[in-house]
Amino acid sequence: MRCIVCGKEGDFKICGSCFAERNTLAYLPSIEIERCGRCGSFRFGKGWTKIDDVSAIEKGVFENLVVFPDFNVESFEVLKNSVVVTGSIYGDRVSVKIPLNLRIRTITCPRCSKESGGYYEAIVQIRAQKRSLRNEEVESAMKIVEKILGESDGEKDFLLRFEETNSGIDFYFGSRKIGEKVSKAIADEIGGSVFRSKKLHTRIDGRDVYRFTFLIRLSEAENYDVVLKDGKICVVKNSKIQKGIEIITGKAMNVSGATLIAKKEEMGWGVITNLDESIAEVMDSEGRIFHVPRPFGAEIGKEVFIFNFEQRTFAFPKDL
Ligand SMILES: [Zn+2]
Ligand SMILES: [Zn+2]
Repeated sequence: MRCIVCGKEGDFKICGSCFAERNTLAYLPSIEIERCGRCGSFRFGKGWTKIDDVSAIEKGVFENLVVFPDFNVESFEVLKNSVVVTGSIYGDRVSVKIPLNLRIRTITCPRCSKESGGYYEAIVQIRAQKRSLRNEEVESAMKIVEKILGESDGEKDFLLRFEETNSGIDFYFGSRKIGEKVSKAIADEIGGSVFRSKKLHTRIDGRDVYRFTFLIRLSEAENYDVVLKDGKICVVKNSKIQKGIEIITGKAMNVSGATLIAKKEEMGWGVITNLDESIAEVMDSEGRIFHVPRPFGAEIGKEVFIFNFEQRTFAFPKDL
């Protein structure tokens, strides 16, 4: 078959190039995009998304582009005042240039207006029992907050305020959901339990509005501290999951709720110099000799940590 216009051989009565010259293959109505002047988010449909300007314009073009049904669009390129649409029609690959009427309107998104109004629904507090927070704990908490906020773009998903107090740190979040998510993730990452409470804040349209507090209590004991749990002396192996080892039997123990006996940095250091079935002889770094209950894993020459509890001296191998 030959094209009725140019005579080119093909499968259609008119070839794609000739058809494209005589018909409108693509059309763009004028587009208005809304952009938040505070955070730079763009509005699409009901939601707001954080994307760069170029992606936002492309998305706006893509959503508004009207094409002739037989025109299979493969790609488009946004230029300053026009869009070049490329695709195939009637056996030919064609590009058409169509005018672009785009306006970006600057408004304040609901999220930013809430944030600037000081709105918050949740406080996440992190406290450690009888000690201050360690830098690593604060850093991991910050990272978690950053990550979760980066993945959320709900209207109330913002951090209003961060406060460092004598007893710990507080995060104020716009939404309860973020507070819940963050507190759970922090407890999973650095250990501890979450206590949740709510307080009536106000009433809106006859509905009670609460503010939630998620308190994360980190345990006092850290790795290698010695604790007492159910009358048994244990060394904390993993404070995050509250796992410990009983120093005499080597049995694995859950140490949640245990009482702290000795901090790692306050313990003495020594070497096992002699052993019998129930007693180990230990020499500390100052040359003093102690007799202690034989700990699990004891071997002559092994390095041990030494501590006192109820007027007795105990020791356990460093690699327990
Ligand atoms: Zn033709
Ligand atoms: Zn905004």
